[in-house]
Amino acid sequence: MRPSVLDPLFASVSTLPGIGPKIAKLLTTFLSSQPDREASVADLLFHIPHSVIDRRHRPGIAYSENGDIVTLDVTVDRHQPGPRGGKAPYRITAFDDTGSITFVFFHPRRDWLEKMFPVGERRIVSGKVEWFNERPQMVHPDYVLAPEEADAMPPLEPIYPLTAGLSPKTLQKAMVTALSRLPQLPEWLNEAHQTQNHWPDFAEAVTVLHQPNEQQDISAESVYLQRLAYDELLASQLALALVRTNMRQLGGLVRAPSGTLQNKVISALPFTLTSSQSAAIDDINKDLAEPTRMLRLLQGDVGSGKTVVALAALAQVIETGAQGALMAPTEILARQHFASMSPICEKIGIRLALLTGKDTAKERRLTQEKLDAGEIDLVVGTHALFQGKVTFKDLALVVVDEQHRFGVHQRLALSSKGKGVDVLVMTATPIPRTLVLTCFGDMDVSRLTDKPAGRKPITTVSVSLDRLEETIGRIGSAVAEGQKVYWVCPLVEESEKIDLAAVEDRHRVLEQALRQRISLVHGRMSADEKDAAMQAFKSGETRVLVATTVIEVGVDVPDATIMVIEHAERFGLAQLHQLRGRVGRGDKPSSCVLLYKGPLGETAGARLNIMRQTNDGFLIAEEDLKLRGGGEILGTRQSGMPGFRIARAEDHADLMEVARDDARLILETDPELKSERGKALRCLLYLFGRDEAIRLLRAG
Ligand code: ADP
Ligand code: MG
Repeated sequence: MRPSVLDPLFASVSTLPGIGPKIAKLLTTFLSSQPDREASVADLLFHIPHSVIDRRHRPGIAYSENGDIVTLDVTVDRHQPGPRGGKAPYRITAFDDTGSITFVFFHPRRDWLEKMFPVGERRIVSGKVEWFNERPQMVHPDYVLAPEEADAMPPLEPIYPLTAGLSPKTLQKAMVTALSRLPQLPEWLNEAHQTQNHWPDFAEAVTVLHQPNEQQDISAESVYLQRLAYDELLASQLALALVRTNMRQLGGLVRAPSGTLQNKVISALPFTLTSSQSAAIDDINKDLAEPTRMLRLLQGDVGSGKTVVALAALAQVIETGAQGALMAPTEILARQHFASMSPICEKIGIRLALLTGKDTAKERRLTQEKLDAGEIDLVVGTHALFQGKVTFKDLALVVVDEQHRFGVHQRLALSSKGKGVDVLVMTATPIPRTLVLTCFGDMDVSRLTDKPAGRKPITTVSVSLDRLEETIGRIGSAVAEGQKVYWVCPLVEESEKIDLAAVEDRHRVLEQALRQRISLVHGRMSADEKDAAMQAFKSGETRVLVATTVIEVGVDVPDATIMVIEHAERFGLAQLHQLRGRVGRGDKPSSCVLLYKGPLGETAGARLNIMRQTNDGFLIAEEDLKLRGGGEILGTRQSGMPGFRIARAEDHADLMEVARDDARLILETDPELKSERGKALRCLLYLFGRDEAIRLLRAG
């Protein structure tokens, strides 16, 4: 049960003044950590301003610089309404000791302006000064106040990330009431740690961030932000540590087969393993032989050959007579894994099956019977594998492919499907160390650092969409020479219809220009249709595949050599890199064409440059973090660390490590969270939406 002290924070935002149902709905989409629940007062309070306007800046009219936001103490001189019915703006002139300024209003309400700016009287006016023909002016000031009401203007005004339909005034007003509802919460920080950092308590940290006294109060280094970022990190690390402890406690089984089957897998491969593939397999074999559960992350850039490592790992448990499962994030990928593993499995006697959400009831029943009877050794599927009622005779190892999206929930679901199930998570995203911690907590990590031998580098160029025809021409010649081409169109969630039209359009244009059949894959097609299209491309029946980003993860067509990414400026770096990794898998040189629509924004330009300069996934991941971190607004969903609202990878990486150690120590000394601090920590878990981990305490 949620501690009642938190109730005021979990009240819906619609209980705040000025927040009606419409704004509440807006805030829910914008801020809620759980979209199925209305945004709460806590969600609002965790919406931290990204900057502060210093209204104390009072340089005087003559000393106000172009573009500065200043507060002026002026005497109103005269009004110059534009001619009636004309388009000219309404102007008001005023002066102070240093000079004079014009306030400019478009679409003026005359009577209102006359009331606001009585001629001959003093006014405090705040807003942005612009110099125009050597004269200062201010268009639509932010504040116009009589001297006796000057208090109504905050000396430091917090500026929040906004969303369409949400005005700063509405947000600020709601925030003031939200702050007044902040309860005094028990302290969950370690006292010495808190004192040493000079960190304030939770309520003070939140309050100052919304009502800063100094510009620096909201900077990344401010004790207020650091405290709150640490709270958020600690909550996530504690939740992950709880899951880990719980999974470990559920106990693993010792699986130490002779390795015959694994060796058969390896000898059946048409190539030799890279040294990091061998090292990863060794790591896994050791884990499996331990009586604790394996929780290992296999991290390797696209094309580094993770699938083979997975199969070798699976062979190890299958040799003991147990079962394995491989979970892919999409239907296509599941089918692809199934297809690529089939020949080897057949050769060495591993009984392989496919299970997806698209199976008919009859197919499903048959697969289920065989799983229960132990007549299937290895099942490949989508997350359908772990939803619902799929059961196993003896599930020993689950491999989760290409996935950093699966969270605590899924991992809990896994553990219920067998005794001491070992888990291997594979990811192609070259996540920096800090992000590994946030996404996976304390997992063991194996890295595939070397690429299979004989890979040719990929040449990357960026080309303006203005040169589309020329590009199509070149693709035509490449295809005539026998090359295979991916052509990717972006998918923008908000307008699925338009995207569909765009990708179908591109498909038509290419078919006409190249005068041949071209495969098309997009999210609205049935699994069979997608399958057929992929198969035609793989077999060489078609030489061009037009797709939305459904091909993003993991598709393997080794003889494809050209990747065209249309509207490359709309993609993030990680995604571009993933897509590019679809080519350069064979022994022929490959290329990637980034087709962009100009003019390019600064960040988009930087992204495309990085793509041209390097193929190194880790470097790209780091640059990505920098670009997204620096440019993005603090505390919004789009910012650096997925799933975090306050902490940022680039600013708070060091805190992450501390939080992890802290969480470990907490669970060592107080595994049930029963001490005073333990109880406070339960509050923390609720506060940051990590309370699902609390269930584990009761279960265990
Ligand atoms: P990813 O790590 O992106 O999932 P895959 O497992 O799909 O990579 O492997 C990419 C391609 O490289 C596949 O065609 C696979 O057969 C091949 N491959 C994997 N390991 C090696 C190796 N050691 N030498 C040569 N080719 C390999
Ligand atoms: Mg893969």
